[in-house]
Amino acid sequence: MIENHVGFLTPDPRHLTPFSWVKIINTMQKLNSTRRNLSKVVFLDRDGVINRDSPGYIKSWSEFEFLPDSLMALKRLTQNGFSIIVITNQSAVNRGMMSLKELDFIHTRMQSAVAANNGKITDIFFCPHRPDESCGCRKPKPELIHQAQHRYAVDLKSTYMVGDSAKDIECARQAGCGHAILVRTGNGINAETILHERKISPDYVAADLDDAANWIIAHDPEHA
Ligand SMILES: [Mg+2]
Repeated sequence: MIENHVGFLTPDPRHLTPFSWVKIINTMQKLNSTRRNLSKVVFLDRDGVINRDSPGYIKSWSEFEFLPDSLMALKRLTQNGFSIIVITNQSAVNRGMMSLKELDFIHTRMQSAVAANNGKITDIFFCPHRPDESCGCRKPKPELIHQAQHRYAVDLKSTYMVGDSAKDIECARQAGCGHAILVRTGNGINAETILHERKISPDYVAADLDDAANWIIAHDPEHA
């Protein structure tokens, strides 16, 4: 195990077989479980919110491209005292298109780039399963958010969830997040129609993550 730049224990990928990753990640989560209690939390979907999405999936760091102003938004949320936790479905793993090692590499590079721009992503929770596996953790199921709640003792009523798909907003509602924000980047325009048909209303529809960050900061009770 090695310690990464945000102070969490992570496995050394050079010594792992693919089969051992799930056990290691579970162990990691337990080891990190009592580190901190977070009071101001923003849950973020990844693809289509932080970075440009792709119908072919984001399978390597070379395919990862930050959306305009997303780094600025992450910096401003961080500087306003929010802890950012990424909640993401990554079915490319179990589709056999990307290894867990590659996903970890993408996330390490993403966190480093955010840190270099004075922001901080505190943690990342992901679901590696395909939809047909009917797992318990793929959004819109709330399991990943509940894992984060358990690890950080988060009061979900005070949290914000930002996503570009109907699944993200449904996940936020099922988990009991206080605020659900849809962004019109990524799949957001289509999601707006889907949510309307399902009679589910986000608390705010933002142009992008920067607009969402402005809304969150303005609604922060500590913001005067
Ligand atoms: Mg998305």
